[in-house]
Amino acid sequence: MKCVKCKGDAVINIRRANAAFCKEHFNEYFIEQALKSIKYYRMFRKTDKIMVCVSGGKDSLVLWHVLHKLGCDVTGMYIDLGINGYSDRSKDKVNAFAEKFGLKSIIVDLREKGHPVPFAARRAKREDCAVCGTIKRYYFNKTAYDGGFDVVATGHNLDDESSRLLANIMHWHDEYMDNTYPVLPAGGNTLKKKVKPLVRLTERETAAFAILNGIDYVMEECPMSKGATSLIFKEALSTIEENMPGTEIFFYTKFLDRVKDKDRSKANQEEMKICQTCGMESFMDKCTFCRLVEKVK
Ligand SMILES: [Zn+2]
Ligand SMILES: [Zn+2]
Repeated sequence: MKCVKCKGDAVINIRRANAAFCKEHFNEYFIEQALKSIKYYRMFRKTDKIMVCVSGGKDSLVLWHVLHKLGCDVTGMYIDLGINGYSDRSKDKVNAFAEKFGLKSIIVDLREKGHPVPFAARRAKREDCAVCGTIKRYYFNKTAYDGGFDVVATGHNLDDESSRLLANIMHWHDEYMDNTYPVLPAGGNTLKKKVKPLVRLTERETAAFAILNGIDYVMEECPMSKGATSLIFKEALSTIEENMPGTEIFFYTKFLDRVKDKDRSKANQEEMKICQTCGMESFMDKCTFCRLVEKVK
């Protein structure tokens, strides 16, 4: 297998692009795909202060690395969820990565805040992943707001977003389909803009990029997410893609084209209120996070 750019030995074959690349040209391809999304969806400007949400997994660490390489002012933000063992191992990966590449980072420790995820879920009598999602969304936004960041970036990749889109279509959850868009605009004064620069790249490609560039990441899945239905949709798409390369990105990007002119910012602001407890933008008088914390106390 030869690199399509230089005819050197290829390290990876990308079937949907009908191309194989050596390490150097794969890195070039990878960064080009990220840049293409950043520019096309107007994710941020060169001068923007970016906060990237990192979990210690491959996608978020790769995104952090890519944004740093592009010369962006980027800070990694990690939330210690308080899941015994798993949280400590992923935090170690984040710290080691920041140190290796000389990057800025912020760590929020949920044990210090008094609501680590397993405890909060038990007290609120709700599902772990739902509680985790509420808490993470809140701190990602709050930390970006407090730190004066312009935009919040997450490592969602093509497989994440296309499988989420497929799941939403199969359940006809029209109201959630917009969440798969790569840019979610700011709302009011406190809700930060969110972007996903890796939506044109697959999990396999982010893993390859991590390995080729010496990015050491936590490989285990969160122990609390076992049996998530999202995996079934990922597997189904992977089977389709295996037999018909290019179908996955076609499915996702054609959806984005159809909804690209929709005004998301206005839809957001019309329904927005201010949380009476924490002062952040909310759909109700008290935000989901503050209501959760009340139950956990
Ligand atoms: Zn090459
Ligand atoms: Zn609140």
